[in-house]
Amino acid sequence: MSRIIVIEAGHGGRDPGAVGNGLREKDLNLRLLEHIRSEATRAGVIDNFRFVRDTDVDMNMTTRNSQIVSHNPHLIVSLHCNAFNQSSANGFETWINNETIRPLATRIHNQVFNYHNSHTRTADRGVRRNGHNGNLGLMPNHANTVLFEHLFMTNPEILRMNDDNYLRGLARAIISATLEREINFNPQVAATPDLSVALGLTQGQLTVNTTLRAEPRSNANPIRSVRAGVIFERGRREGEWFFIRLASGEEGWVRTTTFRRGIGRSLGFSEGQTTRVVQFRETARTNNTNIIRALPVGQMVQLGSSGHTNEFWRVRVHNVTGFVRRNAVRL
Ligand SMILES: [Zn+2]
Repeated sequence: MSRIIVIEAGHGGRDPGAVGNGLREKDLNLRLLEHIRSEATRAGVIDNFRFVRDTDVDMNMTTRNSQIVSHNPHLIVSLHCNAFNQSSANGFETWINNETIRPLATRIHNQVFNYHNSHTRTADRGVRRNGHNGNLGLMPNHANTVLFEHLFMTNPEILRMNDDNYLRGLARAIISATLEREINFNPQVAATPDLSVALGLTQGQLTVNTTLRAEPRSNANPIRSVRAGVIFERGRREGEWFFIRLASGEEGWVRTTTFRRGIGRSLGFSEGQTTRVVQFRETARTNNTNIIRALPVGQMVQLGSSGHTNEFWRVRVHNVTGFVRRNAVRL
């Protein structure tokens, strides 16, 4: 039986958690949770994770705990950021609710700390149990819990958490650490056709300002900057780069992370491809017989833009709409 890890975002709704440096803790906790969800999906390990308080809602202790316990988790990971009445307080700490979990929690803590510390020198406040952490007291006390206090909202160090690239890396560190193995976050599917060509979707649209470059490298030969919102034609891919052509006729390379695939997304669907045989279902549930059919490896599908639950994508295949497991689809 695979390990089930519940990821829980602290605070929410009318409870902002700690505030400081123009940021609210509840927002950072939730953004980190979303990165854990998307990176676990990308790496094909989403089946190991469940998510609690995954929107900005009020959630009292009873509701929170009953949702957590309903997943029968091996481990609860509670996401928080710290605060203190002196802005000099800083660093990363992990709380545990029993001594049995200390060896595992220490390995997890060290790996996550290394991420923080490799970016910017960070104080290691260690794995703690004695003393008071009010949030830990809210967790179900019979289940193994690690509660992260990621940096101090009351110290400018928190500003680095207000960066989705930073949060993505942190999410990856948490996934690898809690699963206790190396995770490949850039899985390659062998011998797959180019997605855009297969669906005839050859446009893209920049989502951020970026630089058009003459080669697929980040540190050389910029052609010019290109604004968010620009629509272009997509060509071939090399690693993290796509060759594009602008309406002006200029050609060059942009990072794959700087745009979305254009036409499909604007219609409410984008494209994906199955990475394994998967059941195509009428509803987003596995425990009944509403299977439309099995989709083969390599099946092109259209993905609903907002039609996903924790574990399923709403997809369209040859104009039939249904659901498939998210971790079986490559975006
Ligand atoms: Zn908190």
